Amino acid sequence: MQKVVGLTGGIGSGKTTIANYLVSLGIPVYIADDAGKKVMQQQEITEAIESKFGKNIFENEQLNRSKLAEIVFNNPDQLKELNAIVHPAVKRDYKKWLSEHADFPLLVYESAILFESGSYKDFEYIITVTAPLELRISRVLQRDNTQRKQILKRMDAQWTDEQRISKSDFVIENIDIDLAKDEINKILKIL
Ligand code: ATP
Repeated sequence: MQKVVGLTGGIGSGKTTIANYLVSLGIPVYIADDAGKKVMQQQEITEAIESKFGKNIFENEQLNRSKLAEIVFNNPDQLKELNAIVHPAVKRDYKKWLSEHADFPLLVYESAILFESGSYKDFEYIITVTAPLELRISRVLQRDNTQRKQILKRMDAQWTDEQRISKSDFVIENIDIDLAKDEINKILKIL
């Protein structure tokens, strides 16, 4: 029987780093955030976004994602409307990906908002990646052109580690990457 495992963690915890390690082991990983970006380039989706949010959201015919994020972040109703456009398209894309990977015994679905979106219910097992808050902040400050205040705002919109851990089957503490990889290897043996 094929197993599909959900992989999540807060901003800067290192879930993409862990996902990359899984891929290096030959395990296919569906990155929900990348899929979201991909479907937002599809014509029918950009048209639907334009008709809801107006032409101003585009610059040189390209969707200005940070402008859109700014709008929906400050307006829950508009976030709902955007999700109603994007989520069904991502679902279709994910179904297609599943059918293309039907022969693999283990697949992983990575999403920062696995719990917040409710999609955790679709998975038999969930792995949460954690790291101390200050370490997560310093990683994101180093990786992105952003400010501490912005990171804290994004953290506020996500579940806490405690909430995620309480609903997870496995927890990987990602401080030292080699130790985190050891943890993953142990989990893979169990799965
Ligand atoms: P986001 O939710 O913001 O996308 P994420 O959980 O996917 O974050 P990553 O992008 O994997 O996190 O990691 C954040 C940054 O920290 C990256 O620059 C990554 O290279 C670095 N990083 C991750 N894990 C470690 C580690 N164990 N040691 C050192 N650096 C790490």
